[in-house]
Amino acid sequence: MTIKENIELAGLTSLRVGGPARYFTSVKNERDARLALSWAKKQGVPYFVLGGGTNVVMSDNGYHGLVITTNNSGIEFTEDDCGTIMKVMAGTPLQDVVDASLEQGLAGLEWAAGVPGQVGGAVRGNAGAFGGETRNVIESVDAVMPNGKVQSFSNADCHFAYRSSIFKEESGSIILSVVFRFMPGNKAALTQKAEELRAWRRERHPLDYPNCGSVFKRIGVENIRIGLWNRYPDMKQAVRDNQVATAYFIDKCDLKNFNIGGAEVSGKHPNFIINRTGNARAEHIVMVASHMRTRVREKFGIILEEEPEFVF
Ligand SMILES: Cc1cc2nc3c(=O)[nH]c(=O)nc-3n(C[C@H](O)[C@H](O)[C@H](O)COP(=O)(O)OP(=O)(O)OC[C@H]3O[C@@H](n4cnc5c(N)ncnc54)[C@H](O)[C@@H]3O)c2cc1C
Repeated sequence: MTIKENIELAGLTSLRVGGPARYFTSVKNERDARLALSWAKKQGVPYFVLGGGTNVVMSDNGYHGLVITTNNSGIEFTEDDCGTIMKVMAGTPLQDVVDASLEQGLAGLEWAAGVPGQVGGAVRGNAGAFGGETRNVIESVDAVMPNGKVQSFSNADCHFAYRSSIFKEESGSIILSVVFRFMPGNKAALTQKAEELRAWRRERHPLDYPNCGSVFKRIGVENIRIGLWNRYPDMKQAVRDNQVATAYFIDKCDLKNFNIGGAEVSGKHPNFIINRTGNARAEHIVMVASHMRTRVREKFGIILEEEPEFVF
């Protein structure tokens, strides 16, 4: 394990903002992960685990502790009486897992076609889309805990919830590997579905600009006051799986293209903030997000909750 100093983080995130990491290391296996944690402890500095960097906003001041990036990748298939299981290293791009499952005609992760980032990040945030969620295909997860011990978590132990898991609620562990369980499916149909979803994303998401995906979580229908349904009848069209798309509320506040510095509410998908100039600062992203939250609260009485992690 090598510790580097003053490594720029902006280029390691999809949003392309953030200052340098005071200390930086890349872990390939359990031993590296344990060494990284014990190094941070000895130095008395905090640590932060960075996966694919597609769901984080790093501070302009950088990170004053140790950034630990997961650089372990690999996929292994095995069969058992109940179907096919796939053991995947946490640093593997999620898209490699989607492609490998489609290649084998395995169902369960096709909804994730086009979701960037690594497997560890997807498990920690229980990534989901189009009614699918990572938790639905997880058999077990191995993580190095803050005390340096490896712990195995069954699906139930992971306490998965909407965009959450035990790894988010009790941060500090490094997810090392994940066992997925898939069901047999029709390869042609699954591949077609995945291609349709990728096309849907290309059409609707502002992929030409740096971004970190949806800035705010969807709103559960139970959190919408009755009067709002009467006042905004078209809101029903924004409902899927008992949640309202947050873009609906942001759009109603006329916030498309609202910008501060180089940070801008996407005109294509208003729940995305884009780094339009490529030189936006994290503080601009925060100011734009804060304005979106305030406007939606004032107009609808709804409190928006961030989806990415703001590391400040
Ligand atoms: C264009 C675009 C579209 C997106 N669409 C979706 C979508 O449809 N659905 C969705 O859910 N998300 C979506 N996202 C968000 C993002 O892709 C996912 O949340 C992804 O799973 C994050 O993975 P990551 O490796 O990039 O995590 P990072 O951004 O690196 O980290 C996110 C969090 O996970 C933690 N983490 C990462 N790896 C580990 C690990 N090995 N062990 C412990 N903690 C770890 C980090 O500390 C951090 O707190 C989108 C993002 C973009 C840019």
